[in-house]
Amino acid sequence: MHEQRAPATVVVIDDDETVANTVARVLERAGFSVEKFTAAEPARERLRAGDVDVVVSDVMMPEVNGIDLLEQVRRSGIDVPVIFLTGAPKLNDTIRAMELGAFRYIAKPFERAMLVRAVEEAVKWGRLIRVTLNHQPDDNRQALDAALDRAFDGLCMHYQPIVAASSGKVFGYEALMRSNEPSLRSPPAVIDAAQRLGRLHALGRHVRKLVADEMTTHRPECAFFVNLHSADLADPQLYALDAPLTRHASGVVLELTERESLESIDDVDRRLAQLRSLGYRVAVDDLGAGYAGLSYFSRVRPDIVKIDMSLTRDVHADPVKRRIVASICELAKDLSMIVVAEGIEVVEELDEVVRRGVDLAQGYLIAKPAPYAPAASPHPLWIAR
Ligand code: C2E
Ligand code: MG
Ligand code: MG
Repeated sequence: MHEQRAPATVVVIDDDETVANTVARVLERAGFSVEKFTAAEPARERLRAGDVDVVVSDVMMPEVNGIDLLEQVRRSGIDVPVIFLTGAPKLNDTIRAMELGAFRYIAKPFERAMLVRAVEEAVKWGRLIRVTLNHQPDDNRQALDAALDRAFDGLCMHYQPIVAASSGKVFGYEALMRSNEPSLRSPPAVIDAAQRLGRLHALGRHVRKLVADEMTTHRPECAFFVNLHSADLADPQLYALDAPLTRHASGVVLELTERESLESIDDVDRRLAQLRSLGYRVAVDDLGAGYAGLSYFSRVRPDIVKIDMSLTRDVHADPVKRRIVASICELAKDLSMIVVAEGIEVVEELDEVVRRGVDLAQGYLIAKPAPYAPAASPHPLWIAR
């Protein structure tokens, strides 16, 4: 924690007082302000009072188990990130916790550094959500507007291959925006600026035009995956028959991220049906990273699900992640959905996700995002295997 603000407040819940004390000590040493509970009821009262950044909770507890507690917390509209510490996870529990948008699972006995890292990420994520939701007034609106203009001017798309996990055959490419504006370098920074300035639709249209131009030039035989912001769903241009991307729709998979809620969009079901009738396929991006979990999944009924890289990272060394990936694959197979594992960086992760039943793989191990150029198919990594 390097930010100069009040230390983040973490509520730790574990009926085993020794575990609660150890977790609290580790987090206090890392600079968090920790409040410890050995029973669920007082913890729930504390959460209702607000101003909690992250919850770290045991799953198996005598009166109310951690997942029931999360359910009660979500029902009262509290969207604090929750990290579960768990001994032997049960399949039902992992699925329910995913549905409720658990932020992460950590297996007991836990590694201290991993716990601290997970809490740091959860704090950042929770604060990001609050800032975006609060829509704070911007003193530098004009400067930001000018920076976004420059970002639009210099915006281009890079493409990252997505390959069949078993054969290395290229299935498609994900289009990722790249900005050369120094003050808005990363895609999330550009998106955040557009959101604050009410220019999300303009950004979405610009991206879709760039992708459509690329597809017109190269006529790719495989799919192009295009990220949508949930606000794009409310843009009539997305559905227009004469919009640039519409004529490529049958070759496009639209990615909707589970990180963003669909609650503010009217008539989501009708809109998704309309996109499908234009020929688009739909993917849920970042599954396992956000808040909505499997409820989002059942709402969107995607053709493709993309497992977030927080679940693929070190999946070979983490029994809980392995189990979650396997259960997502089982579920997806039952529902005839294709599963992509994102963020594959090492061969061990690739081998593990293949073993667990993932269909497609994407990540730096295979290729980094780059200006479009058709990659060899199958990917050379598989030729050598
Ligand atoms: P995402 O859609 O989940 O995209 C995957 C991100 O992971 C990309 O980051 C990609 O460069 C990065 N990545 C891919 N493989 C690996 C890997 O093996 N290891 C690691 N550490 N990272 C990997 P990027 O390009 O910075 O984009 C970040 C997020 O910004 C995207 O997450 C997406 O949500 C959003 N985004 C990017 N381009 C667009 C866009 O054109 N439109 C919209 N609406 N959102 C976009
Ligand atoms: Mg994506
Ligand atoms: Mg993703």
